[in-house]
Amino acid sequence: MNIVMLGPPGAGKGTQAERIFAQFGWKPISTGDIFRVALAEGTPLGLEAKKYMEAGELVPDDIVEGIVADRLKKPDVKDGFILDGFPRNLHQAKALDKMLEESGGKIDLVINITVDTETLVKRLSGRRVCRKCGANFHLLFNPPAVEGICDHCGGELYQREDDNEETVRTRLKVYEELSEPVVSYYNPSGRLLSIDGTGTPDEVYMEIHAAIELASGGAAV
Ligand code: ADP
Ligand code: ADP
Ligand code: ZN
Repeated sequence: MNIVMLGPPGAGKGTQAERIFAQFGWKPISTGDIFRVALAEGTPLGLEAKKYMEAGELVPDDIVEGIVADRLKKPDVKDGFILDGFPRNLHQAKALDKMLEESGGKIDLVINITVDTETLVKRLSGRRVCRKCGANFHLLFNPPAVEGICDHCGGELYQREDDNEETVRTRLKVYEELSEPVVSYYNPSGRLLSIDGTGTPDEVYMEIHAAIELASGGAAV
């Protein structure tokens, strides 16, 4: 199954994409993660993306769309993928339709996770990320077993540069202006499901699981 995850920064897209992957094996593709890896490796892509990411602005469409088009050609997404952080504006949503048209694929389900702004700010300010494997933690809501160390790979946890209060505000504004129209874009297609993301990760996942079952005609268990 091919899934698009929508929702503001901090809604829990990455957290839930990992859970879907663990159960169903559909590969999460996070454009933010791709940029952070490129940045850590100091590649030209990383250096180009850096200024936009640090400001909380969107990286230009042609760059992002090229990356996603290449990524969707890799064999590990043949049986399914979960897009997290893409598409983020109408141009990208239309570009994705075109990519899929060319490859004969389609989006089966669009999951829109909604969370109020106050909760988003709390989640983003306490978020910690593993330098090595990219896993997400939260100081209060999902703390690692050992402070500062990733449960999965033992890597060092760090706070993303763009998770500071000022940049968070910009990102939330950018989401509202540019990404919210993407929700309306998918709405008439009948594939869009909005889910309340304020419960615990388990509660949110239960709703997502039900949505996947529904979209697959009850075949996924
Ligand atoms: P996104 O990918 O949408 O930006 P993340 O999955 O990175 O969001 O989650 C943001 C932060 O909130 C992380 O620190 C994560 O551990 C935490 N988090 C995710 N889902 C929940 C939840 N349901 N309740 C509380 N905290 C959550
Ligand atoms: P979030 O926690 O907001 O979901 P991401 O990890 O998805 O954060 O994205 C971090 C940053 O990477 C964004 O603020 C933006 O600069 C850049 N980025 C990620 N995905 C895209 C995209 N589809 N289009 C443009 N920029 C993107
Ligand atoms: Zn790790």
